[in-house]
Amino acid sequence: MEKKYDEVPIGGTIENVPTSINFKTGDWKSMTPVIDHEKCKKCKICTIFCPDEALIFNEKTQQIEIDYEYCKGCGICARECKFGAIQMKDMRDQK
Ligand code: SF4
Ligand code: SF4
Repeated sequence: MEKKYDEVPIGGTIENVPTSINFKTGDWKSMTPVIDHEKCKKCKICTIFCPDEALIFNEKTQQIEIDYEYCKGCGICARECKFGAIQMKDMRDQK
């Protein structure tokens, strides 16, 4: 049976939020996004969807960049890019 919000057991507490600055979520990914700048239309849609704010539009270079220290390899950016400019690659193939 569905529980009401106040019936759900209390979970762990996260202190000193936001913690993602302190925890480099990119350390444990198995897949990694790679941008094809030839295909990128600079629409910045991917930056909105990234849950770790790991996609940044560099105003200087006018290109999308990935902060690999925080990208956790979820693949949302690749799914949301309508131009096929982001491909997910297996980390084992990057070495
Ligand atoms: S969603 Fe795709 S085309 Fe748009 S900025 Fe991101 S990588 Fe480029
Ligand atoms: S794979 Fe996930 S965490 Fe990494 S840049 Fe794309 S949306 Fe962000």
